[in-house]
Amino acid sequence: MMKNCITCGKQTKNYSEFPCPECGEKIVRCFHCRKISQPYSCPSCGKAGP
Ligand SMILES: [Zn+2]
Ligand SMILES: [Zn+2]
Repeated sequence: MMKNCITCGKQTKNYSEFPCPECGEKIVRCFHCRKISQPYSCPSCGKAGP
């Protein structure tokens, strides 16, 4: 099943999913963005992280 990476916006099936530490919203990041340590920001509360 494909999901949208929150950082690059691409559809990927190689992703990791974790809850936002701030609000618990699901964050989806693709393998590539994780590998290059692309920062994310939560779409719901705006919390940013590595
Ligand atoms: Zn990505
Ligand atoms: Zn959040």
